[in-house]
Amino acid sequence: TIFSHLLDARLLRALADMGFARPTLVQAKAIPLALESKDILARAQTGSGKTAAYCIPIAQKILNAKSSVDSEDALYQATRALILIPTRELAQQVTISLKELLKYCEKEISCVNVSAGTTSHLQRTLLSDKPDIVVATPTRALALLQSKTLLLTDLESLVIDEADLILSYGHDETIRQIFSGMYLPKVFQSFLMSATMTEDVELLKGLTLRNPVILRL
Ligand code: AMP
Repeated sequence: TIFSHLLDARLLRALADMGFARPTLVQAKAIPLALESKDILARAQTGSGKTAAYCIPIAQKILNAKSSVDSEDALYQATRALILIPTRELAQQVTISLKELLKYCEKEISCVNVSAGTTSHLQRTLLSDKPDIVVATPTRALALLQSKTLLLTDLESLVIDEADLILSYGHDETIRQIFSGMYLPKVFQSFLMSATMTEDVELLKGLTLRNPVILRL
């Protein structure tokens, strides 16, 4: 199985159901580093297994945090991870994979895709359920931050997936605003995943990552 010594049995069971017997290259490199909370820049194409490369450590870290809280903190509930995805369709795909991974810890980790649906409906869902993991397009994420529907004061991990696509769709200003300092805590882990390393992606790296580990696969 994938990193049986590093991962919770519930994640390992889900990975076995998914047929993930061995880690892909990007997973083998990224998962142990991500579990140490390193920022990660990975040059990874679709098909490389990049989605699980960030979803697995994010899920494991949330399980770690939830198992270590003492009774007083047991009521602690806030969004811990934000995953930014270029399009609604891709956001839906990532959410489906994530839910498969989380199927044996549905009670412990909640996850919602806010890319589709009306903002008023999402407002109710986000404010009442406070999902652990939010999947969003950059535009939707910024709108929900601006309306204070999405609160990321306790954010632990932020992913920018398919960064080159996000930039080619003209979302660089949106990402800049999300990282402007108004919405995010001082310290959190970032993942920047991109199939190609363009100059624009390099600029985004400076904006979003601190001492990243760079994985060129
Ligand atoms: P991605 O690059 O994240 O879009 O993943 C590409 C495909 O590879 C998806 O269908 C995944 O379900 C599959 N996949 C990811 N990691 C593994 C793995 N370790 N073993 C087998 N299949 C995998």
